[in-house]
Amino acid sequence: MHTGTALQSRLANFFAEVSGSSKQIYWARSADFQEFNFISPTVEGILGISSKRLKHDPTLWVQSIVKNDRDRVRQTFLEWQLKAVNEQVLTVEYHMQIVSKGVVKFVDQCIPVFEQERLVAFFGVTKQLDQKLSDDVPSNLCEYFRYFAEKSGQVYWLSQSDDITQIYISPAFEKVWQHSVNDSICHSTVWIESILSEDKESYLACLSDLESGKIDSFKCRYRIKRPDGQVRFISDRSFVLKGEQGQRVAFGGIAEDITEDAVRQQGLRSAKEQAEKSNEAKSDFLALMSHELRTPLNAIFGMAQILYSSNLTSTQSDQIDVIMESGKNLLNLLNDILDINKLEVGKLTFKSEDIEVNRFATHLIDEMLPLVSSKPIKLSYHIDTDVPRFIVGDSKRLFQVLANLLTNAIKYTKQGYVKLSISCLQQNHKEAALCFTVEDSGIGIEKSQLNSIFGKYLQIESVHQRKHEGVGLGLAIVKELVEGMGGSVAVSSEPDVGSQFSCILLFGLQYKEETKISGRSIMRMVSEPNVKYNNENYNFGLNVLIVEDNKINQKISKILLAQMGCKSVIAENAKAAIASDFQKYDLILMDIGLPDMDGFALTRCIREKESNNTYVPIVAMTAHVFEQDREECFKAGMNDVIQKPLIRDHLISVLQRWV
Ligand code: ADP
Repeated sequence: MHTGTALQSRLANFFAEVSGSSKQIYWARSADFQEFNFISPTVEGILGISSKRLKHDPTLWVQSIVKNDRDRVRQTFLEWQLKAVNEQVLTVEYHMQIVSKGVVKFVDQCIPVFEQERLVAFFGVTKQLDQKLSDDVPSNLCEYFRYFAEKSGQVYWLSQSDDITQIYISPAFEKVWQHSVNDSICHSTVWIESILSEDKESYLACLSDLESGKIDSFKCRYRIKRPDGQVRFISDRSFVLKGEQGQRVAFGGIAEDITEDAVRQQGLRSAKEQAEKSNEAKSDFLALMSHELRTPLNAIFGMAQILYSSNLTSTQSDQIDVIMESGKNLLNLLNDILDINKLEVGKLTFKSEDIEVNRFATHLIDEMLPLVSSKPIKLSYHIDTDVPRFIVGDSKRLFQVLANLLTNAIKYTKQGYVKLSISCLQQNHKEAALCFTVEDSGIGIEKSQLNSIFGKYLQIESVHQRKHEGVGLGLAIVKELVEGMGGSVAVSSEPDVGSQFSCILLFGLQYKEETKISGRSIMRMVSEPNVKYNNENYNFGLNVLIVEDNKINQKISKILLAQMGCKSVIAENAKAAIASDFQKYDLILMDIGLPDMDGFALTRCIREKESNNTYVPIVAMTAHVFEQDREECFKAGMNDVIQKPLIRDHLISVLQRWV
């Protein structure tokens, strides 16, 4: 080796001067690259290795070159030794793993130094290149991935393909598992031993499927118990790593500590379950309340109806009117609360039945007549000529929507008009889109209120300025019902001029019948109600068995039936009903909540005992008004349902059906 030539020492002095403050590494190496004759002190700041150490162990330089580049660089150095010619500038690029910086790219530029035509050394400079990830990644992918894995909070692992012996685990393992990486590499069971016994079996089953080649990957969750006693939730993805020919080369995976998320999710889940439970409890409570409230209402209504048909002075009639009217309002309120509750819990179902539009509108307007009787309001309806005569939809719900809008229109109109218009927007042979508009000349609504008017419990007047009755549920129900039927509702209004509510709904068509409304538009103007209460005399002449335990209800049904020319006998429980000769009756009115056996069971019992020619229609009397309650009545073998409180008109309709 020629380490001390005059030329070298001259150059070394020169380098020492210029390189002291440079960001590059200047060096002089022996011709075989085995020794550093000179290396500038900047090497320490750039490579993290002191010049002293390098001089002592020159292989540190090559050892810092990443594996992928190392052989190529060695090869290049060898070629230079063999082929370099005087004054030739030689260049090689490579990556180095630097402790504090990770992987960094460098370029070496050097010239061979000849003395008497013999290569004696290389003088060169090493520069750090700007990091351009996209250029560098392909040649150095492995190192980058390792770098990511070490920085990540997730545990990356790699094991041999034949026996799952771990070859690599990223440092995050120590934080999550609280065991050293070495522990795991030496005893690969450390990983599995930490898994809670409840979760271990399913994890091992997946692992064995992966090892046996049944599956290529799996994803699972389990809990581990750490040496500090803490339980952590782990999300684990494990997979087979395949070579170019599809052969298995290793197993790998990523495990992540998801304890925070899992705990949050558990909290959310239990909060949701709690909320659902309280919502269910609320609807059960409301259903129960409605039942409990209907029983006394039944009594108030029934007795008022009975009184109404006795000989009364006009003052007494007026007083009964007030009782009936207030009872009706209370009942409506009860129905509203129940409805909104059913809508909230999604229990409401919609039927498809034939609706004769004209009859429907007449009936609707007739029902509204009592409300305008004391007001100078013209109540009218108008049906366009192209509206189909029959449509298919849920008449009860449509009625409820329009009755709500008409009631509001009348409530908020002092004088003038309230009008229902029905028009057809579009129609084909299967469906028709109809628009129902309720228009009034009432107090109107401020523009600022229009957007929120369909919200629940919303009323425009403040509690202290209340002039009108209501709890602000009507329009919320309208909106939910209309949307439940697949339609939409809109409002336009001007204060002191009036309001217009429109609902657009799609109906099926029943095209066996004549589909148009007889070629003319129908208009009806009514200012006076035609009937207040149905006071007509009926004489059905039926023999009725009333199965009812409540004394007041017994009395009311008995008197109402008597007023309609029916004889009745009371059975106050199921036992009495079975003991009675029930086959001799024309009709059985059956309460559902009996003390000894419920009405459903009693009906089934009666149906079993009777023969075909002694079949007695059974009508359920119930305060439970949910659709599923009605269905249950029919399933048990009943033939009709009448809602409590008993209303004379409803009883008349039922008797007419079964007479
Ligand atoms: P409420 O039971 O109070 O009538 P609604 O939900 O039916 O509840 O109506 C909400 C509010 O919208 C009412 O309090 C009223 O102020 C206003 N409103 C509804 N319909 C009309 C109308 N036709 N004219 C004027 N205001 C109306």
